[in-house]
Amino acid sequence: MTVTRVPVRDDLSALEGYHSPQVQVSVRLNTNESPFPPPAAWRDAFAAELSRVEWHRYPDRAATQLREGIAALHGVRPDQVFAANGSNEVLQTLLLTYAGPGRTVATFEPTYQLHGHIARLTGAAVAEGERSADFSLDMAEVDRVLGQSSPVVTFLCSPNNPTGLVESEADIRAVLAKVPGLLVVDEAYGQFADWSAVGLIDDDTPLVVTRTFSKTWSMAGSRLGYLIGPSWLVAELDKVILPYHLDAAKQIAGRLALTFVDEMEDRVQFIVAERERLAAAMRAMPIDVFPSGANFILFRPQGRSGRDVWHAMLQHDVLIRDCSGWPRLQDCLRVTIGTAEENDLFLAALAQAVDAPTTPASSPTEVTA
Ligand code: PMP
Repeated sequence: MTVTRVPVRDDLSALEGYHSPQVQVSVRLNTNESPFPPPAAWRDAFAAELSRVEWHRYPDRAATQLREGIAALHGVRPDQVFAANGSNEVLQTLLLTYAGPGRTVATFEPTYQLHGHIARLTGAAVAEGERSADFSLDMAEVDRVLGQSSPVVTFLCSPNNPTGLVESEADIRAVLAKVPGLLVVDEAYGQFADWSAVGLIDDDTPLVVTRTFSKTWSMAGSRLGYLIGPSWLVAELDKVILPYHLDAAKQIAGRLALTFVDEMEDRVQFIVAERERLAAAMRAMPIDVFPSGANFILFRPQGRSGRDVWHAMLQHDVLIRDCSGWPRLQDCLRVTIGTAEENDLFLAALAQAVDAPTTPASSPTEVTA
Protein backbone atom coordinates (compact mmCIF):
# COMPACT_ATOMS: atom_id res chain seq x y z
CA MET A 1 0.00 0.00 0.00
CA THR A 2 1.35 3.45 -0.86
CA VAL A 3 1.35 5.84 2.03
CA THR A 4 0.83 9.41 0.92
CA ARG A 5 2.12 12.09 3.22
CA VAL A 6 -0.23 15.01 3.40
CA PRO A 7 1.77 18.24 3.16
CA VAL A 8 1.63 20.62 6.12
CA ARG A 9 0.79 24.30 5.69
CA ASP A 10 3.32 25.99 3.39
CA ASP A 11 4.41 28.40 6.12
CA LEU A 12 5.19 25.52 8.51
CA SER A 13 7.18 23.30 6.17
CA ALA A 14 10.55 24.86 7.02
CA LEU A 15 9.96 25.06 10.80
CA GLU A 16 11.87 22.86 13.21
CA GLY A 17 10.43 21.72 16.53
CA TYR A 18 11.67 22.95 19.89
CA HIS A 19 13.60 20.27 21.78
CA SER A 20 15.70 20.05 24.89
CA PRO A 21 18.14 17.13 24.51
CA GLN A 22 18.07 14.73 27.49
CA VAL A 23 20.65 12.09 28.32
CA GLN A 24 20.83 9.73 31.29
CA VAL A 25 23.17 11.30 33.88
CA SER A 26 23.44 11.55 37.66
CA VAL A 27 23.47 15.37 37.74
CA ARG A 28 20.87 16.96 35.45
CA LEU A 29 21.19 20.73 35.33
CA ASN A 30 19.87 21.55 31.87
CA THR A 31 16.19 22.51 31.98
CA ASN A 32 15.85 25.13 34.76
CA GLU A 33 13.49 23.10 36.93
CA SER A 34 13.43 23.23 40.72
CA PRO A 35 15.93 20.76 42.21
CA PHE A 36 13.44 20.04 45.03
CA PRO A 37 10.13 18.18 44.94
CA PRO A 38 7.08 20.00 46.36
CA PRO A 39 6.74 19.94 50.18
CA ALA A 40 5.49 16.62 51.63
CA ALA A 41 2.51 18.45 53.17
CA TRP A 42 1.51 19.63 49.69
CA ARG A 43 1.60 16.03 48.40
CA ASP A 44 -0.58 14.84 51.30
CA ALA A 45 -3.12 17.63 50.89
CA PHE A 46 -3.19 17.04 47.13
CA ALA A 47 -3.80 13.30 47.54
CA ALA A 48 -6.59 13.96 50.06
CA GLU A 49 -8.37 16.40 47.73
CA LEU A 50 -7.93 14.14 44.71
CA SER A 51 -9.89 11.43 46.47
CA ARG A 52 -12.88 13.79 46.63
CA VAL A 53 -12.93 14.84 42.97
CA GLU A 54 -16.12 14.06 41.04
CA TRP A 55 -14.32 12.53 38.08
CA HIS A 56 -17.48 12.00 36.03
CA ARG A 57 -18.03 15.80 35.90
CA TYR A 58 -16.16 18.43 33.88
CA PRO A 59 -13.95 20.64 36.04
CA ASP A 60 -14.73 24.27 36.86
CA ARG A 61 -14.25 25.85 33.43
CA ALA A 62 -13.27 29.24 34.86
CA ALA A 63 -10.85 27.70 37.43
CA THR A 64 -12.42 30.18 39.84
CA GLN A 65 -10.60 29.26 43.05
CA LEU A 66 -7.23 28.96 41.36
CA ARG A 67 -7.63 32.35 39.72
CA GLU A 68 -8.70 33.88 43.02
CA GLY A 69 -5.62 32.42 44.71
CA ILE A 70 -3.25 33.73 42.04
CA ALA A 71 -4.96 37.14 42.11
CA ALA A 72 -4.56 37.33 45.90
CA LEU A 73 -0.88 36.39 45.62
CA HIS A 74 -0.24 39.32 43.27
CA GLY A 75 -2.72 41.84 44.64
CA VAL A 76 -4.80 41.98 41.44
CA ARG A 77 -8.39 41.03 40.56
CA PRO A 78 -9.30 37.47 39.44
CA ASP A 79 -10.52 38.87 36.11
CA GLN A 80 -6.94 40.00 35.47
CA VAL A 81 -5.66 36.40 35.71
CA PHE A 82 -5.59 33.81 32.94
CA ALA A 83 -4.21 30.32 33.70
CA ALA A 84 -3.32 27.49 31.29
CA ASN A 85 -1.25 24.32 30.88
CA GLY A 86 2.18 25.79 31.48
CA SER A 87 3.16 29.33 30.58
CA ASN A 88 3.87 27.98 27.11
CA GLU A 89 0.14 27.46 26.61
CA VAL A 90 -0.46 30.93 28.03
CA LEU A 91 1.92 32.32 25.39
CA GLN A 92 0.27 30.23 22.68
CA THR A 93 -3.20 31.47 23.63
CA LEU A 94 -1.97 35.07 23.66
CA LEU A 95 -0.48 34.67 20.20
CA LEU A 96 -3.50 32.82 18.80
CA THR A 97 -5.58 35.77 19.99
CA TYR A 98 -3.35 38.67 18.95
CA ALA A 99 -0.84 37.42 16.34
CA GLY A 100 -1.68 35.41 13.19
CA PRO A 101 -1.30 36.06 9.45
CA GLY A 102 -0.63 39.66 8.43
CA ARG A 103 0.58 40.63 11.91
CA THR A 104 4.08 40.97 13.35
CA VAL A 105 5.56 39.92 16.69
CA ALA A 106 8.84 41.45 17.92
CA THR A 107 11.57 39.70 19.92
CA PHE A 108 14.99 40.92 21.06
CA GLU A 109 17.54 38.15 20.57
CA PRO A 110 18.94 36.13 22.14
CA THR A 111 15.85 35.29 24.15
CA TYR A 112 13.41 32.43 24.80
CA GLN A 113 13.06 30.65 21.48
CA LEU A 114 9.40 29.76 21.90
CA HIS A 115 8.27 33.40 21.65
CA GLY A 116 9.25 33.54 17.98
CA HIS A 117 8.46 29.88 17.37
CA ILE A 118 4.84 30.05 18.57
CA ALA A 119 4.34 33.37 16.77
CA ARG A 120 5.39 31.67 13.51
CA LEU A 121 3.05 28.73 14.22
CA THR A 122 0.16 31.20 14.26
CA GLY A 123 1.23 32.50 10.86
CA ALA A 124 2.61 35.82 12.12
CA ALA A 125 5.85 37.41 10.91
CA VAL A 126 8.62 37.77 13.52
CA ALA A 127 10.79 40.88 13.67
CA GLU A 128 14.00 39.91 15.46
CA GLY A 129 15.79 42.82 17.11
CA GLU A 130 19.35 42.45 18.33
CA ARG A 131 20.54 42.95 21.88
CA SER A 132 23.89 44.61 22.69
CA ALA A 133 27.01 42.45 23.11
CA ASP A 134 26.37 42.29 26.90
CA PHE A 135 22.79 41.14 26.10
CA SER A 136 21.20 44.35 27.44
CA LEU A 137 18.44 46.11 25.49
CA ASP A 138 19.57 48.73 23.01
CA MET A 139 16.87 51.45 22.90
CA ALA A 140 17.92 52.63 19.43
CA GLU A 141 17.36 49.06 18.22
CA VAL A 142 13.99 48.95 20.02
CA ASP A 143 12.99 52.14 18.18
CA ARG A 144 14.15 50.70 14.87
CA VAL A 145 12.21 47.42 15.26
CA LEU A 146 9.02 49.03 16.55
CA GLY A 147 9.19 51.77 13.91
CA GLN A 148 9.82 49.40 11.01
CA SER A 149 7.42 46.58 11.81
CA SER A 150 4.79 48.02 14.16
CA PRO A 151 4.41 44.72 16.09
CA VAL A 152 1.08 43.80 17.61
CA VAL A 153 3.00 41.93 20.36
CA THR A 154 6.45 42.85 21.65
CA PHE A 155 8.18 40.29 23.87
CA LEU A 156 10.66 40.87 26.64
CA CYS A 157 11.81 38.16 29.02
CA SER A 158 12.95 39.13 32.51
CA PRO A 159 15.07 37.44 33.74
CA ASN A 160 15.88 36.58 30.17
CA ASN A 161 16.32 32.94 29.19
CA PRO A 162 19.06 31.98 28.33
CA THR A 163 21.12 35.03 29.34
CA GLY A 164 19.84 35.48 32.92
CA LEU A 165 19.69 39.26 32.52
CA VAL A 166 16.97 41.15 34.40
CA GLU A 167 15.46 44.06 32.47
CA SER A 168 15.48 47.24 34.56
CA GLU A 169 12.22 48.88 35.52
CA ALA A 170 13.32 51.97 33.58
CA ASP A 171 13.81 49.91 30.41
CA ILE A 172 10.46 48.13 30.75
CA ARG A 173 8.71 51.46 31.30
CA ALA A 174 10.54 52.96 28.33
CA VAL A 175 9.55 50.09 26.00
CA LEU A 176 5.99 50.16 27.33
CA ALA A 177 5.75 53.83 26.38
CA LYS A 178 6.86 53.01 22.82
CA VAL A 179 5.00 49.79 21.87
CA PRO A 180 2.21 50.15 19.30
CA GLY A 181 0.48 46.99 20.64
CA LEU A 182 0.94 44.69 23.63
CA LEU A 183 4.12 44.37 25.67
CA VAL A 184 4.46 40.83 27.06
CA VAL A 185 7.05 40.39 29.80
CA ASP A 186 7.80 36.70 30.32
CA GLU A 187 8.67 36.31 34.00
CA ALA A 188 9.01 32.51 34.10
CA TYR A 189 12.00 33.18 36.41
CA GLY A 190 10.53 36.31 38.00
CA GLN A 191 10.73 35.09 41.61
CA PHE A 192 14.52 34.88 41.44
CA ALA A 193 14.88 38.53 40.41
CA ASP A 194 14.84 41.65 42.55
CA TRP A 195 11.82 43.31 40.91
CA SER A 196 8.72 42.36 38.88
CA ALA A 197 6.69 44.16 36.23
CA VAL A 198 3.47 42.81 37.81
CA GLY A 199 3.24 46.08 39.78
CA LEU A 200 2.81 48.00 36.49
CA ILE A 201 -0.31 46.07 35.41
CA ASP A 202 -3.62 47.88 35.17
CA ASP A 203 -6.62 47.86 32.84
CA ASP A 204 -5.45 50.99 31.01
CA THR A 205 -1.98 49.65 30.18
CA PRO A 206 -1.26 47.18 27.32
CA LEU A 207 1.10 45.17 29.51
CA VAL A 208 0.99 41.43 30.26
CA VAL A 209 3.25 39.48 32.63
CA THR A 210 3.49 35.68 32.32
CA ARG A 211 4.51 33.36 35.16
CA THR A 212 4.81 29.63 35.77
CA PHE A 213 4.46 27.02 38.51
CA SER A 214 7.23 25.00 36.83
CA LYS A 215 10.22 26.59 38.59
CA THR A 216 9.77 28.01 42.09
CA TRP A 217 6.65 25.99 42.78
CA SER A 218 8.39 22.67 41.94
CA MET A 219 5.54 21.69 39.63
CA ALA A 220 7.06 21.29 36.17
CA GLY A 221 5.40 17.85 36.10
CA SER A 222 1.95 19.38 36.46
CA ARG A 223 2.13 22.00 33.63
CA LEU A 224 0.55 25.13 35.05
CA GLY A 225 1.26 28.74 34.15
CA TYR A 226 -0.63 32.03 34.10
CA LEU A 227 -0.60 35.65 33.12
CA ILE A 228 -1.57 38.86 34.82
CA GLY A 229 -2.95 41.46 32.45
CA PRO A 230 -5.80 43.86 31.73
CA SER A 231 -9.28 42.33 32.25
CA TRP A 232 -10.31 43.11 28.64
CA LEU A 233 -7.40 40.97 27.40
CA VAL A 234 -8.21 38.09 29.77
CA ALA A 235 -11.81 38.12 28.48
CA GLU A 236 -10.54 37.74 24.90
CA LEU A 237 -8.24 34.83 25.84
CA ASP A 238 -11.14 33.08 27.55
CA LYS A 239 -12.89 33.00 24.14
CA VAL A 240 -9.88 31.40 22.41
CA ILE A 241 -8.80 28.72 24.91
CA LEU A 242 -10.44 25.31 24.66
CA PRO A 243 -13.28 24.62 27.11
CA TYR A 244 -12.21 22.87 30.33
CA HIS A 245 -8.53 23.12 29.43
CA LEU A 246 -7.45 23.03 33.09
CA ASP A 247 -8.29 19.61 34.51
CA ALA A 248 -9.57 19.13 38.04
CA ALA A 249 -6.28 17.73 39.37
CA LYS A 250 -4.26 20.68 38.09
CA GLN A 251 -6.64 23.22 39.55
CA ILE A 252 -6.25 21.55 42.94
CA ALA A 253 -2.47 21.29 42.59
CA GLY A 254 -2.11 24.98 41.84
CA ARG A 255 -4.58 26.17 44.46
CA LEU A 256 -2.84 24.11 47.15
CA ALA A 257 0.62 25.25 46.05
CA LEU A 258 -0.45 28.81 46.78
CA THR A 259 -0.84 27.88 50.46
CA PHE A 260 2.90 27.09 50.65
CA VAL A 261 4.26 30.54 49.88
CA ASP A 262 6.71 30.59 52.81
CA GLU A 263 8.26 27.25 51.81
CA MET A 264 8.59 28.47 48.24
CA GLU A 265 10.25 31.69 49.34
CA ASP A 266 12.77 29.68 51.38
CA ARG A 267 13.62 27.70 48.24
CA VAL A 268 14.02 30.86 46.20
CA GLN A 269 16.40 32.28 48.81
CA PHE A 270 18.41 29.08 48.83
CA ILE A 271 18.68 29.01 45.04
CA VAL A 272 19.64 32.68 44.84
CA ALA A 273 22.38 32.11 47.46
CA GLU A 274 23.62 29.04 45.58
CA ARG A 275 23.56 30.99 42.31
CA GLU A 276 25.84 33.62 43.81
CA ARG A 277 28.14 30.93 45.26
CA LEU A 278 28.42 29.22 41.87
CA ALA A 279 28.95 32.50 40.00
CA ALA A 280 31.77 33.49 42.35
CA ALA A 281 33.46 30.09 42.03
CA MET A 282 33.10 30.13 38.24
CA ARG A 283 34.57 33.64 38.00
CA ALA A 284 37.72 32.27 39.63
CA MET A 285 38.08 29.91 36.62
CA PRO A 286 38.97 30.87 33.03
CA ILE A 287 35.29 31.53 32.28
CA ASP A 288 33.19 34.59 31.35
CA VAL A 289 30.15 34.49 33.61
CA PHE A 290 27.08 36.55 32.68
CA PRO A 291 25.21 38.19 35.57
CA SER A 292 22.00 36.29 36.37
CA GLY A 293 18.78 37.11 38.19
CA ALA A 294 17.36 33.64 37.46
CA ASN A 295 17.84 30.03 38.65
CA PHE A 296 20.51 29.44 36.01
CA ILE A 297 23.78 30.95 34.84
CA LEU A 298 25.01 31.50 31.28
CA PHE A 299 28.77 31.25 30.84
CA ARG A 300 31.45 31.06 28.18
CA PRO A 301 34.72 29.18 28.79
CA GLN A 302 37.71 31.32 27.73
CA GLY A 303 39.83 29.97 24.92
CA ARG A 304 37.90 26.68 24.79
CA SER A 305 35.11 25.48 22.57
CA GLY A 306 31.85 25.44 24.48
CA ARG A 307 30.93 22.14 22.85
CA ASP A 308 34.17 20.52 24.10
CA VAL A 309 33.48 21.69 27.64
CA TRP A 310 29.89 20.41 27.42
CA HIS A 311 31.20 16.98 26.36
CA ALA A 312 33.81 16.95 29.10
CA MET A 313 31.11 17.76 31.68
CA LEU A 314 29.05 14.87 30.37
CA GLN A 315 31.98 12.53 30.89
CA HIS A 316 31.83 13.63 34.53
CA ASP A 317 28.13 12.66 34.53
CA VAL A 318 26.90 16.28 34.62
CA LEU A 319 24.39 17.46 31.99
CA ILE A 320 24.13 21.19 31.33
CA ARG A 321 22.52 23.05 28.40
CA ASP A 322 24.65 23.41 25.31
CA CYS A 323 23.80 26.80 23.81
CA SER A 324 27.12 26.98 21.94
CA GLY A 325 25.53 26.44 18.54
CA TRP A 326 22.64 28.87 19.06
CA PRO A 327 22.73 32.14 17.11
CA ARG A 328 24.56 34.93 19.01
CA LEU A 329 25.63 32.54 21.79
CA GLN A 330 28.78 31.05 20.37
CA ASP A 331 30.57 28.81 22.91
CA CYS A 332 28.00 29.59 25.62
CA LEU A 333 26.72 27.01 28.11
CA ARG A 334 23.95 27.30 30.69
CA VAL A 335 23.74 25.61 34.06
CA THR A 336 20.61 25.33 36.19
CA ILE A 337 21.16 25.82 39.93
CA GLY A 338 20.68 22.46 41.65
CA THR A 339 20.93 21.15 45.20
CA ALA A 340 24.11 22.05 47.10
CA GLU A 341 25.48 18.59 46.39
CA GLU A 342 24.70 18.80 42.67
CA ASN A 343 26.26 22.25 42.53
CA ASP A 344 29.45 20.95 44.18
CA LEU A 345 29.63 18.13 41.64
CA PHE A 346 29.08 20.65 38.85
CA LEU A 347 31.88 22.91 40.09
CA ALA A 348 34.31 20.01 40.48
CA ALA A 349 33.49 18.75 36.97
CA LEU A 350 33.75 22.25 35.50
CA ALA A 351 37.15 22.88 37.07
CA GLN A 352 38.42 19.75 35.39
CA ALA A 353 36.55 20.38 32.13
CA VAL A 354 37.99 23.83 31.51
CA ASP A 355 41.49 22.41 31.93
CA ALA A 356 40.82 19.20 29.97
CA PRO A 357 41.68 19.76 26.30
CA THR A 358 40.26 16.58 24.72
CA THR A 359 37.04 16.06 22.75
CA PRO A 360 35.49 12.61 23.13
CA ALA A 361 35.54 10.56 19.96
CA SER A 362 31.80 9.92 19.95
CA SER A 363 28.81 11.83 21.33
CA PRO A 364 26.31 10.17 23.64
CA THR A 365 22.94 9.39 22.13
CA GLU A 366 20.60 12.32 22.59
CA VAL A 367 16.92 11.67 23.11
CA THR A 368 14.49 14.53 22.65
CA ALA A 369 12.09 15.29 25.48
N1 PMP B 1 9.13 31.11 29.47
C1 PMP B 1 10.44 30.93 29.65
C2 PMP B 1 11.35 32.09 29.54
C3 PMP B 1 10.94 29.65 29.93
O1 PMP B 1 12.26 29.45 30.07
C4 PMP B 1 10.04 28.57 30.05
C5 PMP B 1 10.52 27.17 30.39
N2 PMP B 1 11.56 26.70 29.65
C6 PMP B 1 8.70 28.81 29.83
C7 PMP B 1 8.26 30.09 29.56
C8 PMP B 1 7.68 27.71 29.83
O2 PMP B 1 7.44 27.24 31.07
P1 PMP B 1 6.20 26.31 31.39
O3 PMP B 1 5.47 26.04 30.10
O4 PMP B 1 6.78 25.11 32.02
O5 PMP B 1 5.36 27.12 32.33
